[in-house]
Amino acid sequence: MTARYAVFGHPVVHSLSPRIHAAFGSQLGIAMEYAAIDATPEDFATALAAFADAGGLGANVTLPHKERALALCASASERARRAGAANTLTRRDGAWHGENTDGLGLVHDLTERRRIDLRARRVLMLGAGGAARGTAPALLDAGIDELWIVNRTPERADALADALGEPGRVHTRYWDDLRNLGAFDMVINATSAGRGGSIDLPFTLATKRTLAVDLSYGEAAVPFLAWAEAAGCEQRIDGIGMLVEQAAESFAIWHGRRPDTDPVFESLSARAGVLHTA
Ligand code: NDP
Repeated sequence: MTARYAVFGHPVVHSLSPRIHAAFGSQLGIAMEYAAIDATPEDFATALAAFADAGGLGANVTLPHKERALALCASASERARRAGAANTLTRRDGAWHGENTDGLGLVHDLTERRRIDLRARRVLMLGAGGAARGTAPALLDAGIDELWIVNRTPERADALADALGEPGRVHTRYWDDLRNLGAFDMVINATSAGRGGSIDLPFTLATKRTLAVDLSYGEAAVPFLAWAEAAGCEQRIDGIGMLVEQAAESFAIWHGRRPDTDPVFESLSARAGVLHTA
């Protein structure tokens, strides 16, 4: 029987994960089925259980199910627990094991593909949702100096800082304080504000040496990357690289081999048609 994998989300129709995993599978000669399963928050637990009953071996989980996915796991990695969310589920001994590969994906994209040294960086994280939770621990582990978290709803930024548990390195501020924080070495947009078509940020956050990273891609990344360009940032990166790398981490967990991500990255980047490293 063909090994079965899937991505769960709502909506999920535009997910690139089936295409990415299919490309990895054909590159490494691994036969599998990878479906996109749309499940509402109310239906997610039932749909996941039905997938397991039908022989599903692994699942990626995207918006809005990552926190619930972790709660449905019998065991989870430290990374997933620190993030409070799982994006990769693996069937083990009749139960789900949760992992979060988002942070590894971002760090891999920045340090391996772009050869960016993350040590001694003063980093601003905009947002405190699932993407911020998934990536913040990995950035701290990669050696950044300071992490400043600013979120539209400040309580979520505080909750994330508490979960990270490094009060000397992690700070939170209100959105209105952004103009008083000075310039950062790296500004990461982990909000979904770009989906609404705009993001309002002061230019004082950046200099030409500031690395601007949007975890979104496609149209959703345009407003932040346009702001970064107007602010003079010479290096501007969208979330396609992270997307491909987090998928490769999931693939390696399930199949024991990490694919070459470059061909898939190149093909998706060409399609996305937005800025990457300038
Ligand atoms: P969540 O819904 O969990 O969080 C959304 C975040 O965006 C919250 O912090 C929210 O603030 C903030 N936000 C939403 N609208 C606005 C606005 N108008 N102004 C300011 N802040 C706003 O989403 P995720 O964290 O899962 O995803 C965020 C982005 O990251 C998405 O675009 C997603 O596609 C991308 N992503 C990319 C991945 C990749 O592999 N490249 C992986 C995962 C996510 P508040 O708390 O106040 O609501």
